[in-house]
Amino acid sequence: MIGNQPLIERDHKVLWHPCTQMKDHETFPIIPIKQGQGVWLEDFEGNRYLDAISSWWVNLFGHANPIINGALKDQLDKLEHVIFAGFSHQAGIELAEQLVAITPEGLSRCFYADNGSAAVEVALKMSFHYWRNKGQTQKTRFITLENSYHGETLGALAVGNVALYKETYAPLLMDVITVPGPDCYHREANETWQDYSERRFALLEQSLQQHADTVCAVIVEPLVQCAGNMRMYDAIYLKLLRAACDKYGVHLIADEIAVGFGRTGTLFACEQAAICPDFICLSKGLTGGYLPLSAVLTTDTIYQAFYDDYQKLTAFLHSHSYTGNVLACRAALATLTIFQQQAIIENNKQLAKIMAKAAQRFNDHPHVAEVRQTGMILAIEMVKNKHTKEPYPWQERRGFKVYQYALSQGILLRPLGNVIYFMPPYVITEAQLFHIADVAWQAINRAVQD
Ligand SMILES: *Cc1c(COP(=O)(O)O)cnc(C)c1O
Repeated sequence: MIGNQPLIERDHKVLWHPCTQMKDHETFPIIPIKQGQGVWLEDFEGNRYLDAISSWWVNLFGHANPIINGALKDQLDKLEHVIFAGFSHQAGIELAEQLVAITPEGLSRCFYADNGSAAVEVALKMSFHYWRNKGQTQKTRFITLENSYHGETLGALAVGNVALYKETYAPLLMDVITVPGPDCYHREANETWQDYSERRFALLEQSLQQHADTVCAVIVEPLVQCAGNMRMYDAIYLKLLRAACDKYGVHLIADEIAVGFGRTGTLFACEQAAICPDFICLSKGLTGGYLPLSAVLTTDTIYQAFYDDYQKLTAFLHSHSYTGNVLACRAALATLTIFQQQAIIENNKQLAKIMAKAAQRFNDHPHVAEVRQTGMILAIEMVKNKHTKEPYPWQERRGFKVYQYALSQGILLRPLGNVIYFMPPYVITEAQLFHIADVAWQAINRAVQD
């Protein structure tokens, strides 16, 4: 058996891992994973880790899922990839048809890219370019919400608002209009999510009123701001936003990269507000967590503004080398098959209830300010002072202590700052959910000591 150690040493010599201070790995070694099965990951010494965060929110139906594996094995001997300009393939066509069918009514065109950030770039560029093709060249700006996250490439980073990722690069980023968000963590003690979200919408409407002439689009993460500490808000906000965008002649971009494919309890979060955005961005769960792929779906109105003789120079000349990769499309089709065949959305209602029950005790924890849940996402806000919600100083890295302890107990949790969250694959069991909650409880108790 090769063991973990040789791989840890080789890794440390040549690799640079994402979103990581590499020096941390001097004292807390990276974990090389040999194989996965269902919710489990296994290292080279036989230690197992329950993947309670779906490997950064991408995995839906477990690792080494037999249905998705089967689809990929079948595809592999036929075609691995083909240029997607001038050429097409069955899986890409079929996936676009299905995405058009299952996303909100009105979205009728599918543009592929290869990761979430790229999808956001596509939506931003398409929106800007639509207005330009329509002669509205003064529309060059975007409105975004406080605490939002849309990816790491410069355009996506610019429309995001998580200081930890953004501030360093501020001199490189386009100027955006950032408005106070609907994040219900800040509501008054006796205020409902709906009342608070509605009240906060007035601030966005003011901004639209003031800037609509120069604004291309408003970009939002429907219902849950995931990277922004899993902060949540009410669907009324999206309803009001859709109406206001129509009123002021501004596009609505729904970034469902994290919340799509059942995470919020419905297949897409926009369904809970019964709205159709002008653009929806999908990635992460799209391939069941197997391969990088993203899609931007948009309306016929927008598509038609680009459709003309070549000499008019209105075409969307954006591409990525791996656009529409056929293996990724097959993984996505297999993922959608599982949704259809196994009544996943219906079953998840039960799982979400179990998750709520498993986490109920945290409400009374002396260092938990809030337990919040939207569908299959549950978050626990660990604070210094429960009553004032005073946070722990970030330098203390208490969330990191939770991470370390949970790993020692065979659970992969990866808190965002001091927010511990569960976002498991949908193949998780009741017993496993209770086990995760038990370990999280012990981990928090340790992390809040002195
Ligand atoms: C993860 C994420 C992105 C970026 O996707 P990548 O594939 O990591 O580039 C964009 N928006 C949201 C809401 C996300 O959660």
